[in-house]
Amino acid sequence: MSGLFDLTAKVALVTGANTGIGQGIALALAEAGADIAAAGRSPADDTVGKVRGLGRRAENFAADLSSVGAVQPLVDAVLAEFGRIDILVNNAGIIRRADAVDFTEADWDAVMDTNLKTLFFLCQAAGKHMIARGSGKIINIASMLTFQGGVRVPSYTASKAGVGGLTKLLANEWAAKGVQVNAIAPGYIATNNTAALQSDETRNRQIMERIPAGRWGDPGDIGGAAVFLASRASDYVQGHILAVDGGWLAR
Ligand code: NAP
Repeated sequence: MSGLFDLTAKVALVTGANTGIGQGIALALAEAGADIAAAGRSPADDTVGKVRGLGRRAENFAADLSSVGAVQPLVDAVLAEFGRIDILVNNAGIIRRADAVDFTEADWDAVMDTNLKTLFFLCQAAGKHMIARGSGKIINIASMLTFQGGVRVPSYTASKAGVGGLTKLLANEWAAKGVQVNAIAPGYIATNNTAALQSDETRNRQIMERIPAGRWGDPGDIGGAAVFLASRASDYVQGHILAVDGGWLAR
């Protein structure tokens, strides 16, 4: 069975791999055998060191993904260094919180640019390479707010709903070309992104009470789903949004 999930000799480009969910995914993919191109605005030295410790290759690629101009140079640099991209994990993302009546255009644009616009053009740039080779796996990081409305995060909700839609559109266009496009929707995972919620005693208690698993997720909890969607085991899974949420959506 393990061969189904084996990623030996595969190259995975993971955005936002220095911390949180991106780091959890990069380490899980490396444990399954993949080499890691770690892209982000902060160097992923800790992740790169840990991947190398697992006996896999890992390199840092500096890229500020708030602007679409970073996309093609990033893909070109990874291809120059590794020669191929088998797996793309679009993980980098931000969140801005304010009541809808006060929400600014700057907070709208910043989130939509990083979480949705850059994600699409990174899918496009890596997708062209994958289509030419007839194979590839793209995993976009969605959210509970791909399915739900949330509160005080209008641009985040819009961006993550968009990630769900784009994942399905790209799967429709590329499934027959050998490229699988799927998404993971994490539940409440303890990272920098959710630090404000974790430290708000009331919100933290409300969240915990609603999670059937009875705990916040850990970035490592997302790794298994990423290995599945990156591996041969998921070859007939297309346009799926896989919730890894401790049961949140079931409640
Ligand atoms: P995190 O710890 O804040 O990590 C976000 C990552 O994205 C960091 O590596 C960050 O780099 C990177 N990033 C942000 N803006 C960037 C930019 N302009 N260019 C390059 N990299 C950039 O948060 P996380 O929770 O692991 O989030 C990872 C993904 O999961 C996001 O898409 C988030 O929306 C999604 N998600 C998280 C949760 C959760 O409960 N935590 C739930 C659902 C979905 P820096 O370290 O340099 O900022």
